[in-house]
Amino acid sequence: MIDKNNIESIIIHQGFRDFVWIDPREIVVAHWVRVKCIFGCKDYGLGTCPPNTPSVNECALFFKEYKSGLIIRLNKFADKNDYPSEWSEEMTNSLLDIERKIFLSGFQKVFLLNQTCCSLCKDCPGNRLDCKDKGRSRPSPESFAVDVYKTAKNAGIEISVVSENPSEINRIAILLIE
Ligand code: SF4
Repeated sequence: MIDKNNIESIIIHQGFRDFVWIDPREIVVAHWVRVKCIFGCKDYGLGTCPPNTPSVNECALFFKEYKSGLIIRLNKFADKNDYPSEWSEEMTNSLLDIERKIFLSGFQKVFLLNQTCCSLCKDCPGNRLDCKDKGRSRPSPESFAVDVYKTAKNAGIEISVVSENPSEINRIAILLIE
């Protein structure tokens, strides 16, 4: 049985207040997300992105193995031509700390889908075997074929589409807990 108050206090203590509980079995997984990774995303081929991730069908099955999870929304006013990488790194470190604390509180299956493609190293070799920080690298929801817009909307979370620059950007992380 999950002590939601305890989990929430871990997350809030780490500085995140914008989150909602979800049933991971309802995460929307779609083939179009994978196609957009392959065609159109400059990060395709990075160490935690396709083709270094499970197939779309395997991702869908993976989410069915969890009964509890959280969507965490991150908000930042930023210029898309000058991505706030220091902020992103800080957020990733905080999310990894949360994952670790939840693990230590007894949830061995806890897994973080990070708010961004893994960019912990400047010279990522682009494959899992040669990853330089295997203990901390985590995939993004998109790299696991999650339709982030639909999944977040179903959970009552709106994500802004960036039409002006600079403007507020939203990033989504998913924590699977069991
Ligand atoms: S930890 Fe470094 S080497 Fe590994 S996937 Fe991330 S950026 Fe690439």
